[in-house]
Amino acid sequence: MAVSAPDDQRKIRLRKLKFSDEEIENLDKVEYEPHDLDEPEFFTVQDIQGCLQRADLYVSNPDAKNAAAKFSSLSAQVLRFVSLIRRPGIVTPTHIERCMQVAYTAKLNSGCISRQVGAVVTGPDFSIRSLGWNDVALGQVPCNLRSRSDLLLGQDLSAYSEYEVSDTFKDQLQNSSAGYATLTTCGRSVPFCFKAEYNALRKEKNQVHTRSLHAEENAFLQAARHHSATLEGGFLFTTAAPCELCSKKAYQLGIKRIFYIDPYPGIAVSHILQSGTKRPVLELFSGAIGKAFHRLYSPLVPLKDELNALGR
Ligand SMILES: [Zn+2]
Ligand SMILES: [Zn+2]
Repeated sequence: MAVSAPDDQRKIRLRKLKFSDEEIENLDKVEYEPHDLDEPEFFTVQDIQGCLQRADLYVSNPDAKNAAAKFSSLSAQVLRFVSLIRRPGIVTPTHIERCMQVAYTAKLNSGCISRQVGAVVTGPDFSIRSLGWNDVALGQVPCNLRSRSDLLLGQDLSAYSEYEVSDTFKDQLQNSSAGYATLTTCGRSVPFCFKAEYNALRKEKNQVHTRSLHAEENAFLQAARHHSATLEGGFLFTTAAPCELCSKKAYQLGIKRIFYIDPYPGIAVSHILQSGTKRPVLELFSGAIGKAFHRLYSPLVPLKDELNALGR
C-alpha cells in the first residue's frame, strides 16, 4: 500500500515540521531515488519509488479545505477499502480505478528491464481512446529480448543500433559484462540497459538517452495514428507521473485532467503544467489496481445467488 500526498502539500507539511528546503531535497534523494545493491542504503532506507511502483492499494491524503473536513477524504478511502476487503464486490470500481487498471495492464507489456509504466488516454467521459506502455518503437527489439553476449559475439546484430555495434560502446559493454560470465555460462540471457551503459561511458547521470518511448507518448501516438477524433478535453492516466516532455505534449493536446500515481514529478508540474491559461487538473490516484483490483472487486458469488441462498 502506498499513502501519498501531492508534492506541494507534502513539502508544506515538512516545512511545518521545520525541515529546510535543502533537507527536504536531501531526504527525497535518499528515500526516493533507487539505490544500487552495493550501497548500504539499499537495505536500510525507504524505497519510495519502488513502493509506488509495486503497491496495489493507493491512498491519497491531500490537504482538506477546512479543519472540519480534515482527514475526511482519507477516512472515506479507508472505509471503502475495509468494506471491499470484508465483502469483495460490494461496490464496483470507479471510472478512475477502471482506467488506471487498464494502464496497469498495459504496463506489463513493457520490455524495459528497469521500469514498466502504463498510460491510458480517455475522452472527457472516461471512454478509453488509446493506451501505451514504455517501449521501443515498432521495428526495434525491446531491451529484455537482447543480450550482452549477442552484441559482443556479433550475433543477432539487427537487434542493435549502429552506435551499439561501435567499438567505443562495445568496449564499455565488455568491461561491465565481466561480472555476468557465470550467468551466461548457465545459459541465461543477460540484457543490458542502454541508458545505464551510456551514462557510465559518458560519466553522466541523465534520463535522456533511453531507447524507449514513454508510456504517455505511446498512448498519445496511438491515438493520433488510429483516431481522427480530438483529445481536447480528454484525460490522461499514468501509472507513474508525466515527465517534462510528456507534460508538454499533454498540454498541447488539450488534456484536461491528469491522473498519476507517483507524486515526485520534478518540475513537470510547477513549470510546464501549471503555466498559461489551459492548465490541466492534476489528480493523485487513489484506489485499487493490479492484484487488489481483482481481489476487491470480484464478488465471491453472484449477489443474486447469495440473496437467493439467504432468502430461503
Ligand atoms: Zn530499457
Ligand atoms: Zn515522459
